[in-house]
Amino acid sequence: LTVLGIETSCDDTGIAIVRRENDNNKVLANVMNSQQSFHIRYGGIIPPRAQDLHRSKIAEVYERCLVEANIKPEEIDAIAVTTRPGLPLSLMVGLRFARHIARTYNKPMVPVHHMKAHALQACMEHTIPYPFLCLLISGGHSQLCFIKGPEEFLLLGETLDDAPGEAFDKIARRLRLYINPEYRNWNGGQIVEQAAKLASNPEAFEFPLPLARMRDCNFSFAGIKNNSFRAIKRQERIEACPPDSVITNYADFCAGLLNAISRHLMNRTQRAMEFCIERGLFSGNCRSLVVSGGVANNDTIFNDISHLAEQYDCKTYRPSKKYCSDNGVMIAWNAIEQIMNDKQCLTYDYYKIDVQGKATLGTSLLQEV
Ligand code: ATP
Ligand code: FE
Repeated sequence: LTVLGIETSCDDTGIAIVRRENDNNKVLANVMNSQQSFHIRYGGIIPPRAQDLHRSKIAEVYERCLVEANIKPEEIDAIAVTTRPGLPLSLMVGLRFARHIARTYNKPMVPVHHMKAHALQACMEHTIPYPFLCLLISGGHSQLCFIKGPEEFLLLGETLDDAPGEAFDKIARRLRLYINPEYRNWNGGQIVEQAAKLASNPEAFEFPLPLARMRDCNFSFAGIKNNSFRAIKRQERIEACPPDSVITNYADFCAGLLNAISRHLMNRTQRAMEFCIERGLFSGNCRSLVVSGGVANNDTIFNDISHLAEQYDCKTYRPSKKYCSDNGVMIAWNAIEQIMNDKQCLTYDYYKIDVQGKATLGTSLLQEV
């Protein structure tokens, strides 16, 4: 089974080809075109510009992908494409392109949910038996879900405001760390992770634990973000910082910030873990936790979560770093999981498939948690 995956939900044009043969999964090609260096100048993504950039690059990314895989389009069995959730203008570019290839070569299409694809990506490289708990942390989402099968997601909690990746990006920008040539073309999460390693006093900045009194599995990062902005302003005043300069103890600040975000993620994951154990959701004694989405790249966060899970005899997994953030591989892999689960997901009814800006992950257990 050979599937081409197309991802254009946000600011990355990603196309990949994944093959599953005799229970082995192989990435034949993975090509990405990131728009980050463009959007960073404006402090956020401008949807029509993102759409233009996807449009201007998608054919080239596709051609490079075929060359890298050394494959002809005829040898592909299905075309998978992200249809939800995401920026509708960006999603449309991927969907139209997918339709075009599917029609040209008479191939079936598989629509893919972007967050489900993030969540299941770890299963491509590790044998993780269903069901498992999943912490999905990315640029636009923060969710805890219990996954019973490729199409059976129970949503346990989600963010009430910002996502953790978004918080890292906005705070790194406010710290003006993007102007540091060392960090050119890095995202906020990577910058904060790297800067935190240089801290001499990691306890210098402390943040209160968000939602500490709430018994549910929801998240909130707006408090950490606003406290960060205030702390940076205070520090700039103390140091009489000239405009466009960075506070001297930015590394200590990043260590404090990373610690605050990690503690919050651990606290909510612990609640979810206890909920799943109490309700007998895990099967037998086999407990697995998957951490995925761009923020799963962060070693401090992943190690903290793994240690927490260990206390519950739970094994923790994450995708390889190159597959944590957006990419076409996870879209192709998700289609393979869907096809193995139920061949009905393959469709030649190309015009029945549409994009959806917002799309829930599955059945909500938010009230029960
Ligand atoms: P969503 O998947 O919610 O629609 P997205 O696709 O934009 O959002 P991803 O590509 O999964 O998000 O992840 C990008 C985010 O991951 C960015 O916000 C970035 O700051 C964060 N990130 C990447 N690397 C790291 C890291 N090492 N530590 C923390 N955060 C990181
Ligand atoms: Fe994503």
